Formats: sequence, C-alpha cells, structure tokens
Amino acid sequence: MISWKSIRGRLAPSPTGAQHVGNARTYLIAWLSARSQGGRLVLRMEDIDSPRIKPGAAQQAVEDLVWLGLDWDDGPVAQTERLVLYEQALATLAGQELVYPCTCTRTDVERAASAPHQEHEGPTYPGTCAHRRAADAAALGDQPFAWRFRVHDQPITFLDGYRGTTTLNPRNQAGDFVVWKSAGTPAYQLAVVVDDALMGVTEVVRGDDLLPSTPRQYLLYRALGHLPPKFAHVPLVVGPDGRRLAKRHGDTRLASLRAAGVKPEALIGLLAWSCGWLERVQSITAKELAPRFRLDTIPPQPFVLTPQLLDAIGYR
Ligand SMILES: [Zn+2]
Repeated sequence: MISWKSIRGRLAPSPTGAQHVGNARTYLIAWLSARSQGGRLVLRMEDIDSPRIKPGAAQQAVEDLVWLGLDWDDGPVAQTERLVLYEQALATLAGQELVYPCTCTRTDVERAASAPHQEHEGPTYPGTCAHRRAADAAALGDQPFAWRFRVHDQPITFLDGYRGTTTLNPRNQAGDFVVWKSAGTPAYQLAVVVDDALMGVTEVVRGDDLLPSTPRQYLLYRALGHLPPKFAHVPLVVGPDGRRLAKRHGDTRLASLRAAGVKPEALIGLLAWSCGWLERVQSITAKELAPRFRLDTIPPQPFVLTPQLLDAIGYR
C-alpha cells in the first residue's frame, strides 16, 4: 500500500523540438495530479533519441515549465546520463531469454508484415528473427542488430486513472518490440520503464497517444521485477481540423506565446477551462488550481485549440 506521502509524479519533456500548448496541458494535469495529493515530482529529459534532439531544446523546456509555474523536486535528469542503467536492464532481459537479436532492416519488416501498419508504430513485427537466442548475438560479428522483446499473445488489463479498466494485447500493438536499437541506443520503451522504476515514480500522467505503449511497458516492468506505476492517459490537444497540434496550426510554441506577452496565468486559465476546472476562461495560477483538480471533469474528446481561443488570452 502506497501512502499519500510517497506519491511521485514526473514531467518528461522530449527535447526533439519546442514545447507547445498541447504539451503544457499534459504537464499541467500531471503536475496537479501529484501536487494535489501532496506528492513530489521529478523532471526528466527524454533525450536519447539523438538524431532528433534539437540543441537548446532541453533548456528551453525548463524555461517553459518555470514560466508556466510548474515546479519539481528532483532533476532535471537527462536520459543520456543513464545509459549504464539501460544496459544493465538489457542484460537482465537477455539473461532470461526475453530478448533476441534482430537483424531485419525497416524495409525487411515492412515487406514481411502482412498486417496493416499501426499509426506511429510501423508494421507489426512478423517474428523473422524470433528463433534466435540471446547468445546468438556474439556470432553476428559486425552485422548491425536490434534487440527485440518477446511478446506473447496475451491481453493485459490495467486500471487507468482516467479511462478506467483498459485491456490491450501487446501482440496487436507492435508484436515483438525493439528495446535496443541497432544504432546502439536504448529504445524509448526500455528507457522510460527503467527510469520510472528506478526514480520511484508512482504515477504517470501522459497523453493518450502513448496508450498503446502501456502494455509493452507492463511486460518490461514484470520482466525487470518492478511494480508498474498508476497510469492515466489523457486526451490530447488538436487543431481546428481535428489533427494533433502541429506547425500547420500556426505557432503554438510556449516560447512564442511568452515572447508575444501572453501571461502564463492566462494560458493556465484557458487550459483549466478546457479540463472542466473553471466555468469560463480566466487568469489563474497552477498552484491556485490544486484544490480544483480532478481527472473526471476532463472531456474524453481532444481539446480543440482555435485561433479565437488563443486570441482570447492575448496571443495575436
Ligand atoms: Zn528480425
């Protein structure tokens, strides 16, 4: 039993680009969830996706969070400083024969996969290299290979703090999934599980675009001998066309709002209204929202950010 005193959440920006209004909404929800329970927060930079990392984006993310009035107790901790921990986890998985070396290229996987491609995920891995044992890696010489985790055809049920009881079969999400890339770096799924487990994170509040990752992460928690945290997957922010907030919807970067003179309390007020914590858009700080916080008032559909709403908070 976890007492309320040991609640620990996290803010985990990915410095692959600038933080925008959509990110701010998820951070606000995650921050309020931890703080309204008297919990602590860790700030973690998810910066292992090296080719996509933008110089200065990590520092910018810190400034954005400070501007929003969202604080943290530990960090920032960078994933790139923790590679040895991910290597140890990989060795643990290999020792249990839960991973195998995969020499398939992306094209190989696409060609062999019969199932339709999953959005964002690529095709389901057809199991071409699943006959290999972990020790076979030694015989591959200079041939580049990834490590894949063996997934059984077994649904996973978990209690999502926002969605309620959720059942997903990791077999249908991506099949045997990559935990270590052929480039020699850990994959997102492994790094995030190792971090949340070792940092003592007890609750993960994140966008529902990551929901399909959760059963895979459950498998990793189990394999590494850790208890999974409580997950809550909340709806994302979309543009007027219903698509995920992106450049095509105009400049919604927090740095741009800040430069245009938008007050953080105005943006927090807009986001709080979108979550059902305020009856109308009005200025408020994140701290002042803590007593109003609840997950069940957040509408299940994505929040549609329109130019009119941005105009209403002074962004023009
Ligand atoms: Zn393969």
